[in-house]
Amino acid sequence: METRELTCINCPMGCQLTVTLENGAVAKVAGQTCPRGEAYARTEVTAPVRTVTTTVPLTGGTAATVSVKTAAPVPKGKVFAVLDALKGVTAAAPVHIGDVVLPNAAGTGVDIVATCERQ
Ligand code: SF4
Repeated sequence: METRELTCINCPMGCQLTVTLENGAVAKVAGQTCPRGEAYARTEVTAPVRTVTTTVPLTGGTAATVSVKTAAPVPKGKVFAVLDALKGVTAAAPVHIGDVVLPNAAGTGVDIVATCERQ
């Protein structure tokens, strides 16, 4: 039996989670205040994922940049590949929330989308 200590990152409460593993499988999760904590813990110890947020340069608009994020979480091990794929990517004004700035980032099958309006 093995235990892992985690901090839930789903909300500012930051609950301290204890995950008990038996033969590599999650046997028990303790310390969560809501069901999201258990779901986070199970994913984190088996196949961790992250949402990537950053900015890209805006062309033809009044602002210098537009904020973007992955449309869904990507495998944690792909985060730097996603950031590399965004090097040199720009968005042309006008940009609307949800506009795809980069499809299928780093072969993850996940698009990078705008998270703000820019004219
Ligand atoms: S377990 Fe629930 S309440 Fe606690 S940090 Fe995670 S999301 Fe927030």
